[in-house]
Amino acid sequence: MIAESDRCVETPRDMAGRWREHFGNDAPIYAEIGMGKGRFLIDNAVAFPDINYIGIEKYSSVLLRGIQKLEADPLPNVMLIRMEAEYITEVFAESEISRIYLNFSDPWPKDRHAKRRLPSKEFLARYEKILVPGGRVEFKTDNRDLFDFAVEEAGLAGWEMEVCTYDLHADEALMAGNIMTEYEEKFSSIGNPICKYIIRSPKR
Ligand code: SAH
Repeated sequence: MIAESDRCVETPRDMAGRWREHFGNDAPIYAEIGMGKGRFLIDNAVAFPDINYIGIEKYSSVLLRGIQKLEADPLPNVMLIRMEAEYITEVFAESEISRIYLNFSDPWPKDRHAKRRLPSKEFLARYEKILVPGGRVEFKTDNRDLFDFAVEEAGLAGWEMEVCTYDLHADEALMAGNIMTEYEEKFSSIGNPICKYIIRSPKR
């Protein structure tokens, strides 16, 4: 458990519906679930100061690295939450989030653990609640089995597939403005192709 600071809170159920108030503006809120050390989140927040970013991570050991970066270089549009993603519908109100990023999510390779995978239909149902109507989930991974599973689950759950590539780094148009994650750098540098999708919520 991390001591609560103005940079990081622990499963803040009392904040549902109050995130705009927290940031003090009406800017859209984007969330990354499983942010790890936070490079992607923080680089986005620097590039897009008119968007508010919330990073969610279950392990304080990695999250701490994000907190340290923010202490060295504070950004008013970033907030970190230490929590298990399963509880997101208790921490955010209906339609409070404008976009969700999943980057290099844990694969949970055993069939009986499929529901724990962050792009599973069980998680998509949670994302649909907290996302604005037509809100998007963007997912990157080098794990082909997990990606194939994710594409199938999105279809089953009625999400619209807007972008789907099995080699992001070979796609010039999609690479324009691509912000790398820590895992993306590591796995693309050893030659693994990176898969990416962007899906749109069926909620209208
Ligand atoms: N997004 C980062 C880290 C990827 S590793 C990157 O691309 O570099 C996956 C991260 O997701 C780990 O830090 C893990 O602790 C976190 N994570 C996995 N399942 C989670 C869950 N259910 N809730 C919150 N965080 C989770």
